[in-house]
Amino acid sequence: MLKLENVVAGYGHIIALKSISLEVPQGSIVSLIGANGAGKSTTMKTIMGLVKPTEGSITFEGQDITGMKTHNIVKAGISLVPEGRQILSDMSVYENLEMGAYIRNDKEIEDDIKKVFKRFPILDERSYQMGGTLSGGQQQMLAIGRALMARPKLLLLDEPSMGLAPLVVSEIFETIKEISAEGTTVLLVEQNVRQALKIADYAYVLETGKMVLDGKAEDVRTNPRVMEAYLGGR
Ligand code: ATP
Repeated sequence: MLKLENVVAGYGHIIALKSISLEVPQGSIVSLIGANGAGKSTTMKTIMGLVKPTEGSITFEGQDITGMKTHNIVKAGISLVPEGRQILSDMSVYENLEMGAYIRNDKEIEDDIKKVFKRFPILDERSYQMGGTLSGGQQQMLAIGRALMARPKLLLLDEPSMGLAPLVVSEIFETIKEISAEGTTVLLVEQNVRQALKIADYAYVLETGKMVLDGKAEDVRTNPRVMEAYLGGR
């Protein structure tokens, strides 16, 4: 469904991605893991057109999306839950969700907001509350809800569990599984390697801008190098 081939990207003279290739098959959960600064967020931003690749190609459902504008990439069916949630803190929960539908122009936006409220009843209760007053977990739910408002075929999640209490982390992972089961393909960047590999079908390991390993999530989880570097040796 999504294919990155030999993608090189960065910021000015800083090359963050040194020719990476990655595939996300339709219907799967693919997890991208790696240490801080490895280039995981840059990969997500490059897919979304927020960072322009200097080499390589990105195709989505057979369409070349390399260098396309972000709103057209969203229209094509990819949406991002960014690192740090990026909720609009001075806008209400409801308005944040409306923002997620900015590329749409149909009559079903309100229905989709109701669907988000059904998935996350706490957001319904707080629909008039300002985004900035929500807890971290609620903000993450809002960030996911907002991304779903674009009706993505492929959902990119950048460290959704970051900074959340263990119970909330489990809820978020459950939600990701549900979204996947409902037919949305998922690319997940996570520091929480253990949980990410539990729900993923396939995984890639990125180190200083290069893919060093990929395989079925189960095989990656039991790889000695991964166990040592990301799973505390267990
Ligand atoms: P983290 O988990 O810390 O977000 P990451 O794997 O997502 O790490 P990136 O944020 O993609 O890593 O960063 C990859 C490299 O690009 C790092 O060396 C980082 O310092 C650099 N970098 C990231 N964003 C910028 C930017 N806006 N300007 C310049 N350099 C950047």
